[in-house]
Amino acid sequence: MLAISRMKALISTHCISKTTPLSLFSSASKSIRSYPPTQFRTPNLVRLKPNTFVPYASLSSEIAPNGAVEMDAASRRQRSGEIHVIVGPMFAGKTTTLLRRIQSEKGDGSNVAVIKSNKDTRYGLDSIVTHDGVRLPCWALPNLSSFKQKFGLDAYEQLDVIGIDEAQFFEDLYDFCREAADHDGKKVIVAGLDGDYLRRSFGSVLDIIPLADSVTKLTSRCELCGKPAFFTLRKTEEMQTEVIGGADVYMPVCRQHYVSGQVAIQAARVVLESQVECRSCA
Ligand SMILES: [Zn+2]
Repeated sequence: MLAISRMKALISTHCISKTTPLSLFSSASKSIRSYPPTQFRTPNLVRLKPNTFVPYASLSSEIAPNGAVEMDAASRRQRSGEIHVIVGPMFAGKTTTLLRRIQSEKGDGSNVAVIKSNKDTRYGLDSIVTHDGVRLPCWALPNLSSFKQKFGLDAYEQLDVIGIDEAQFFEDLYDFCREAADHDGKKVIVAGLDGDYLRRSFGSVLDIIPLADSVTKLTSRCELCGKPAFFTLRKTEEMQTEVIGGADVYMPVCRQHYVSGQVAIQAARVVLESQVECRSCA
């Protein structure tokens, strides 16, 4: 419900902002109408000076002995940040892809940090582990806003890349990503579920797509037929959105098996509920 109300808020904000460009261009439109169409003139739009932008290569930097470019903290802030989003169902390799990108950035000489939610304690809290066993040290936090403080402000200044895993569990994802990329010049790589077991938007992951440089939707393999799987089917009867679990609770499925699986689970639930009612009647 929270995600839906956020989406509604987002839509209403867009509706309001639609009026702004019209009022901005109204004086230019009037001036165009006052001329015959053959003398069409370019409206007086505000032009940005070329030197408004700081080219990446002109930022103060030093070439390290190993050839990597080392930047000071001020240059890091000036540099344009990036946001890359990796989504997909469970068992699609989101964490593996995130770790691969983080390790690649580290190999290029970047300072990296990885954050995950402290809600997921399946593999311990001090490291991030893929389903196939690859491990990387990480920060397990209840929210992202506490990261800067806990990591240390000086250490944060030195960071180039921030990885966020299980991003659906962070309610402050939007504000953190915007601040880190827009103002602090960080490259943020985010991995998370785009949808929950009912294929509803999960947490704030979809909210950051308008902020993103790139979005990658990974697929898994349907556990029932082997075709590409886009969805996560919950095999158990819990109804709440957040149930932490692995292959014991969830399985990746194709569209056809998601639909038939939901019907089967719903039917099983009705039977179980009717049994409970019968017992209470007896
Ligand atoms: Zn299937």
